[in-house]
Amino acid sequence: MDDVRSGVGRAAYSRGMVAALSPSRASDFKQCPLLYRFRVIDRLPSPPSPAAARGTLVHAVLERLFDLPAGDRTPAAAAALVGPEWERLVAQEPELAGLLDTDDDGAVDGWFAEAERLVHRWFTLEDPTRLEPAERELFVEAEVDGLVLRGYVDRLDVSADGAMRVVDYKTGRSPSELFERSSLFQMRFYALVLWRARGVIPRMLQLVYLGNGELVRYEPDEADLLATERGIKALWAAIERAARTGDWRPRVSRLCDWCEHRDLCPAWGGTPPPLPLDAPTRALDPSVAGQAAPADD
Ligand code: SF4
Repeated sequence: MDDVRSGVGRAAYSRGMVAALSPSRASDFKQCPLLYRFRVIDRLPSPPSPAAARGTLVHAVLERLFDLPAGDRTPAAAAALVGPEWERLVAQEPELAGLLDTDDDGAVDGWFAEAERLVHRWFTLEDPTRLEPAERELFVEAEVDGLVLRGYVDRLDVSADGAMRVVDYKTGRSPSELFERSSLFQMRFYALVLWRARGVIPRMLQLVYLGNGELVRYEPDEADLLATERGIKALWAAIERAARTGDWRPRVSRLCDWCEHRDLCPAWGGTPPPLPLDAPTRALDPSVAGQAAPADD
């Protein structure tokens, strides 16, 4: 078996840290090593956006709806949860309230109306009166040859015969090929973790795109997940190499249009902050590289 603990990592791990990686940080590095550096080493804050907050709200409503008896899970009941769930989220994270320009009633109403539209669209794709999720916002974790993989699954359905269906909600407008690759990577990542943790390969991976009302389904097999595992181990080895060499080069792509740190990116004329002295250790810090949050869209 390969051991993912090598090089610079050994110093960190010898102090009792176990290497860890979440699908979000893995996707960051796959997209662009410099983006990974900005998030994991420089720890630049990600400014909350109204769209991201709406995604969190919609995830919360869909999760909470399953607290109701099956017959009561109607579109009206879901719409009625939007306001209270938003208040609950703001109570947890007061800075969310500042995202909505309360001087512009029209914009605020439009923001809530779009959240309701996304929730309503879900009912055209799935029927919650016929679903009884085994788990919601499930934290999953498994160790693969010394590397802990962890994340949150939006919903896990388990049929009477034990077959698992992993469901992830996406509030983005459309699953362009660009994003679909990354979403499928995230789903295979979860499938691998569940397989390693429970010994059973999920039968179905299902992405629910609320932005344009589309379901993407995928049935993984053992060969797929072994390839995913090899890919993740190679990715971690590449992260360790970058930590060792300090080579966090930018990788320009169409996704740069959505990069919140573009102003600091040398590929776009910016200047990154100086690399901290403890950058090699920070790069592999499991509390950041393995950081996962529910509704990490
Ligand atoms: S702008 Fe593009 S190349 Fe630069 S850090 Fe962001 S994703 Fe990487």
